[in-house]
Amino acid sequence: MVDTIKITLEGVTESRLPQTDFNNLPFGKVYTDHMFMADYRDGQWKNFRIVPYGHMLVSPATPAIHYGQSIFEGMKAYLGTNGEVLIFRPHDNLQRLNLSADRMCMPPVPEEIFMEGLRELLHVDKAWIPSAPGSSLYIRPFVFSADEYIGIRPSQDFTFMIIMSPVGAYYSNPVKVKIETHYTRAVAGGTGYAKAGGNYGGAIYPTKLAAQEGFHQLIWTDGVKHEYIEESGTMNVMFVFNDTLVTPALSDSILAGITRDSIVKLAQSWGMKVEERKVSVKEIVAHLTQGTLQEAFGVGTAATIANIEAIGYEGNLYTLPPVEQRVIAHKIYQELDAIKRGTQPDRFGWIM
Ligand code: PMP
Repeated sequence: MVDTIKITLEGVTESRLPQTDFNNLPFGKVYTDHMFMADYRDGQWKNFRIVPYGHMLVSPATPAIHYGQSIFEGMKAYLGTNGEVLIFRPHDNLQRLNLSADRMCMPPVPEEIFMEGLRELLHVDKAWIPSAPGSSLYIRPFVFSADEYIGIRPSQDFTFMIIMSPVGAYYSNPVKVKIETHYTRAVAGGTGYAKAGGNYGGAIYPTKLAAQEGFHQLIWTDGVKHEYIEESGTMNVMFVFNDTLVTPALSDSILAGITRDSIVKLAQSWGMKVEERKVSVKEIVAHLTQGTLQEAFGVGTAATIANIEAIGYEGNLYTLPPVEQRVIAHKIYQELDAIKRGTQPDRFGWIM
C-alpha cells in the first residue's frame, strides 16, 4: 500500500487548447494536454507522473497486444456552476477497475494512486473541461500488462494510465436494435463482468453485421440458448411495462454499470417499482406484440440514456411507442444529469 504519492509533472511547452474547436468535439478524437502514468515494477506501483499526452514506447512482445491483457474504465467530469470540478461516482469506477484487474490477473490500483492521479490531472488540465450546456470531460483510466514476454502467464509489469477527452453535448438519437440470437458477448464463467479489452474487440463483428441490416446496436442475450436478455451494445438495458422498471439482474456475463445502479436507486427513491431479475426474450417479444412495452432504453456513461425506438427479432421489426411520449426515460435523464452537473442536490452522495 502507498500512503501518500508524489507525482512529478512534465508540462507541455505549448498547450493545444487554442487550436481546439470546442464547438466541434467528435467523441474520442480530442485529448487534453496531459496524461497520468504509473508503473508496476517489482511488485509495487511507482513512478507517478503527469506527462504530455502523446505516443509512447511499448515492447512489441507486450501481452497487452497479443493476449488482451488490458482493462479500462469510463467516467465523466463536469464543470459546476461555480467553476468547481464535479466527478460522478469515481470510487465506483475504481472498485470496478479492481474487479476487472482481479479477473485478468493484474494488481489492483490503490485508491490513493487512482484518486490523486485523477485529481492532479484534472487540476493540470482543468481548462479542458467544456462549459457548454450538455458537454463534459470523458475520463479513461486503464491498466495493461507491460512485460516484454510473449509467453502466456500472469504478467509481472503493468502500466496504469489516465487520459481525458472533452466531449460536446452528446444526445443519443433513438436507436433501432436487434436481439442477437447467434453471436455472444459474454458467457457464464467468462469475462463479461470485467471491463476487459477483449470483450469489446469481439463484439465489433456481430455489431457490424447488424449494422448492415440497418440496426444501430445489438441486444445481447445469454450465450447458452439466447433466451435471456443481457445488455444493449455497450450499455445496460432497461424496460418499462406495467409501470415497472425492469432490468436484467447482474451476473458474471453482465457489466455492472454505474449508470444502471444510479437509475435503479433513483427510480426506487421516487417510489417506482423496480425489478432486477432474469428478463426473457419471450417476455419482451410478448409485450412488443401486445403493445404493452411502454419504454426500452440503454443506460451508460456516454449518453446516460439511449432510447430504443424499434427492436428486431427473428426477421420481425417491432416499433415502440414514440420517444416523445416516454415519461420515465425522460425523467431519469433530467434528474441524473442535474445531479451530475450539480444543479440538483446530491442526495445520494455521488459527486466528488
Ligand atoms: N455494459 C457494458 C458492456 C459497458 O461497456 C458499459 C460502459 N462502461 C456499460 C454497460 C455501462 O456502464 P456505465 O454505466 O458504468 O458506463
